[in-house]
Amino acid sequence: MSEGEHFAAVGIAAPRTSEAGPTEILHVPLLGNPNTGKTTLFNALCGLRHKTSNFPGTTQEARIGVVRVAQGQDAEVRLIDLPGIYSLELDVLEASVCRDVLAGRLSPRGEPFGDPEAVCIVVDATNLARNLVFVGEVLRRRLPTVVALNMIDLARAEGREINLRTLEEQLGCRVVAVSARKGEGLATLASALRSATVPTHSPPGEQSELEQWADRLAVRSMQPATGSDAGASRLSISDRLDPILVSPWTGIPIFAAVMVAVFYVIFSVAQFPMDWIDGVFGYAADSVESVLPPGILRDLIARGVVVGIGATAVFVPQICLLFFLISLLEDTGYLARAALLMHRVLQPFGLPGHAFVPLLSSHACALPGIMSTRVIPDRRERLATILVAPFMTCSARLPVYVLVTSLLFKGRPFYAGLAFVGCYMVGAIAGLASAFIARRTILKGPSRPMVLELPTYKIPSLRTALATTIDRGWVFLKNAGTNILAICIVLWWLGSYPHVPPPPQVVAMRLEAAEVRTRAAETTGVIAGELGSRAEEIEASADKLEAANAKARSFIGRMGKAVQPVFAPLGYDWQLTVGVLTSFAAREVFVSTMAVVTSAGGDNADVHNEGIVQSIANAPRDDGKTPIFTTATCWSVLVFFVLAMQCLPTLAVTAKEAGGAKWALLQLGWMSAVAYAAAFTVYQSLRLAGFS
Ligand code: GDP
Repeated sequence: MSEGEHFAAVGIAAPRTSEAGPTEILHVPLLGNPNTGKTTLFNALCGLRHKTSNFPGTTQEARIGVVRVAQGQDAEVRLIDLPGIYSLELDVLEASVCRDVLAGRLSPRGEPFGDPEAVCIVVDATNLARNLVFVGEVLRRRLPTVVALNMIDLARAEGREINLRTLEEQLGCRVVAVSARKGEGLATLASALRSATVPTHSPPGEQSELEQWADRLAVRSMQPATGSDAGASRLSISDRLDPILVSPWTGIPIFAAVMVAVFYVIFSVAQFPMDWIDGVFGYAADSVESVLPPGILRDLIARGVVVGIGATAVFVPQICLLFFLISLLEDTGYLARAALLMHRVLQPFGLPGHAFVPLLSSHACALPGIMSTRVIPDRRERLATILVAPFMTCSARLPVYVLVTSLLFKGRPFYAGLAFVGCYMVGAIAGLASAFIARRTILKGPSRPMVLELPTYKIPSLRTALATTIDRGWVFLKNAGTNILAICIVLWWLGSYPHVPPPPQVVAMRLEAAEVRTRAAETTGVIAGELGSRAEEIEASADKLEAANAKARSFIGRMGKAVQPVFAPLGYDWQLTVGVLTSFAAREVFVSTMAVVTSAGGDNADVHNEGIVQSIANAPRDDGKTPIFTTATCWSVLVFFVLAMQCLPTLAVTAKEAGGAKWALLQLGWMSAVAYAAAFTVYQSLRLAGFS
């Protein structure tokens, strides 16, 4: 086929050498994001009929090609190939060339032709959301515009059908589907350029609004391929559901309900296996103590190793359940819609919609949450998400919340529940605010438009969900298991050594108990029984006192006393300081540490045990009179635990995923500073208000 025949076939007039020139000349800049097939399209339209020069005063190459449109009156379209750019607003030479050409200030050969008669925007049909942001920027210039929806062959091959009518209506300009590579739609495009009109409406001017606009539009105009009956029914499900699920008014309440249901299932269902695991490890510790002879090995295994493994294992049910449910939701196609919805919520804070699932997962545990930030394409956005993920309330904080809220609201579960919700919210707000600050300072940079394909809705696969769950659960166990185990052993050692002789008071109590027992042996009947239980009481008090004394004089106790002045402005005495210090390794040890230092109970302290909560509540400071936990101190502790970075395994994962220890140090420093400042403010205000 000769060149002439080819053009005739597609309806574009072959260049003629006749003297009768075209009656109309149109100057049409060809714009688009890089890699949308602009060059291919230019070549397909103009063939060899183009000239290459430079834009005057720049090193930027300028190509002008000619397309003749033989339709009614003869017209000549002079296509001006502009450099591919991501945004017209960027401060780079390529973007400034594009702006100047659109404004009629610059022309390739220096002969100004004023405003272009039409603009052709090349869009990659397989990447609609991102490309539409650029389209919006161009449409705002209010020049006659045609959108060339290129790579339509690829989009079809991927099963994506784009609704041209919807797209045209929403953009307010012509949209022509083309395949530059296959030569499809070129004639239609050429004649559309000739009759191009100014867009009927103007997209939002503000960048984030523009991105939302583009997202919405991409969702609306994208439909799965029709063809089979199954396809047709999928299409209608998506068509019917998306406007409800993706629109903020209906989508956000539905999303909130789904999240409440997910967390309800996690916390209610996981409680059973968590109790079993707790029981099994408690039993194992007791068995070790009864089997092995007393000594360092027994203590190490029972109090260090078994407690350490138990402390990790107890969170596995919640984490597995969370990942199981997330995987199911993801498989249905809902999570992509939720992420799109959350994009609008997260974007003002400099985080992308992709950050939503990692932040959600961090509510179980920050470790798998941080690892799942790998889905975030932009490095700065990813770093910001990693940095703030530990602000989300993880399962390890819950025992502390339970303890402190039951101290604050004894017998008032409704208020305790409210305080719980408040803690979750404060954590999330602090995380978002920190991301906001980070993205405007150390991680400054443009937000990427959300490029997220909306998958079709389908029935989730149990198999995939189980596989994901096992995979994530195992990652958690490997990472946290080894770290927490090591931490528990170190803590056990710091808390148990050096061994000190019992104080004189304890010696005296034990002597008294022995005396009472002797007297009991000498008598019979009721009196003997009473004396026996009296002796037991004395011994129990002596045990508690001895444990508390050992803790106070252990390495950790000494550290607590040395560091206490730092925490004094937050209202903490040395015992509370010990609790806070040990929880910098892992928060969950706070309750058992407090139980031990205040001699409220043994190492197997359980927050659900009324007795232990009561004795912690009544535990006095060293002066023996003022309680450790006043109202002001309780609130201060609660706020501190909501905000502080108290988890060594998370710091290790942050360093690894962010690519450097400096990020982990930054996370530790920032979160500790925020926690300290907030706890200080809360304590001092409550104290001034008379709550101490
Ligand atoms: P530019 O950076 O926008 O100039 O993009 P190019 O013209 O260099 O095209 C990028 C890639 O997309 C090349 O490999 C082209 O062959 C391919 N391409 C361009 N248009 C189409 C199309 O309509 N269909 C398909 N399947 N590929 C295309």
